[in-house]
Amino acid sequence: MNSEPPRVDFWTSLLRGWNGRCPRCGEGSLFGSFLKMKSRCTACDLGFEPYRADDAPAYFTIFVVGHIVVPLVLLVERWGNEPPLWVHALLWLPLSVVLALYLLPHIKGTVIALLWAQRIAAPKPSAGGVDSSA
Ligand SMILES: [Zn+2]
Repeated sequence: MNSEPPRVDFWTSLLRGWNGRCPRCGEGSLFGSFLKMKSRCTACDLGFEPYRADDAPAYFTIFVVGHIVVPLVLLVERWGNEPPLWVHALLWLPLSVVLALYLLPHIKGTVIALLWAQRIAAPKPSAGGVDSSA
């Protein structure tokens, strides 16, 4: 017997995506490895392949990391007696990398969940990539 899964609140689906879980059931994992998406949910069999985030997670991650790091750079420059450049490099390069590596899978999961919640699926590719109707 195949029962219809219950409807999911928009914000619940986004939170599930943020946590790397299937936006529909919250049980199965979105990712097989760091950023590699699984093709289907192992719990509810939702297909993830039509929900392609493309470059959006990288864009949003750069946006967020920039809005965290740049004000900190300016604060240290203003009230830190203008430290030498190596201090800035020592502080902000590792912080930027760690923030980006932390945020990227969360933001990617959230974008996938947003696409699923809004039913924005990529069209299925035609067989062989050639339009046979022409
Ligand atoms: Zn699922």
